[in-house]
Amino acid sequence: MCEETKYCSRCDQDKPIDVFYKANRSYCAECERAAASVRMREYGRTPRGKASMALQNARKTIKKNGYEVEDNLEVDDVLAVMEFFGNTCVYCDQEIAGTMSIDHVVPLSKGGGNTKANIVVACMPCNVKKHDRPIAERFSQEKQEEVERYSAFVDGEDIECESLSAEVKRLLSGLSKAVENFSSLPDVMLQKSGLRN
Ligand SMILES: [Zn+2]
Ligand SMILES: [Zn+2]
Repeated sequence: MCEETKYCSRCDQDKPIDVFYKANRSYCAECERAAASVRMREYGRTPRGKASMALQNARKTIKKNGYEVEDNLEVDDVLAVMEFFGNTCVYCDQEIAGTMSIDHVVPLSKGGGNTKANIVVACMPCNVKKHDRPIAERFSQEKQEEVERYSAFVDGEDIECESLSAEVKRLLSGLSKAVENFSSLPDVMLQKSGLRN
């Protein structure tokens, strides 16, 4: 029995037909996978690719932990926040070169939403390193001001900041531990929540 073969124009080899996804493809399956992963890597370096992957990761976290939180974040929201912060990490001020992460001002684990009003963007090392520190300590003074301006920007965009105050209040009504956490929120967020005048 003679095995049917087909020429792959990428690896320049004749290969058995069954290693092609379809008979009409010009690359073998192995080469198609390699090409797809190059495309993914290239996409991952674009702002939209970074935003999209960071959003997917945030959704995975929500799903994995079964968080029941408000989630209306879209890729364009993440792009707007990235642009606002000049595509830099809010913690170290460096351009986010590698994988980007979405950091939630009120953590998802404390009921904070996956919403434009509740996110900042960070490089992966900073997000991992500073994960357990009170949020106010994480920001440099310069970035703290930026975060306050961001809050104003969110207001100007007619995004409901009510959502943040509702989250803060819900948390405060529950755990005294949460009060400790929220006393470390930036002042502007406490003011918004009506917890500080
Ligand atoms: Zn090939
Ligand atoms: Zn950083």
